[in-house]
Amino acid sequence: MSDPNCIFCKIVAGELPATVVNRADGLIAIEDINPKADVHLLVIPERHFADFREVGVLSADESKRMLEFIAETAQKAGLEEYRVLNFCGAGAGQTVFHLHWHVLGGTIRGMPA
Ligand code: 5GP
Ligand code: ZN
Repeated sequence: MSDPNCIFCKIVAGELPATVVNRADGLIAIEDINPKADVHLLVIPERHFADFREVGVLSADESKRMLEFIAETAQKAGLEEYRVLNFCGAGAGQTVFHLHWHVLGGTIRGMPA
């Protein structure tokens, strides 16, 4: 459920600092440490799994709550229009191998097209 070498597991456990903007049962939203948009948030399920290909480990209810939490996080951040991105696999630009969603608002710079 948790990987001791994973940055996001450490953030979830409070072992690494992060600016938490939203939290719910099993889910956390933080500010990206290297923002590539005016608003750049990361939505992270607390449960460790590497990437979107493994999304089936979540129950139907957990998946639904994760999607709702993304929308709620964007709304709380004051975003009416925004992008939700997932990079699945190193070849697609993923660098942290714990599933997460980028929520990007405003002007975007430096993100893969
Ligand atoms: P990926 O390329 O895997 O989709 O995105 C990983 C994201 O995590 C990047 O946008 C990167 O800036 C962010 N990131 C990497 N390490 C940390 C960290 O320690 N704290 C926070 N808040 N974000 C991080
Ligand atoms: Zn992890």
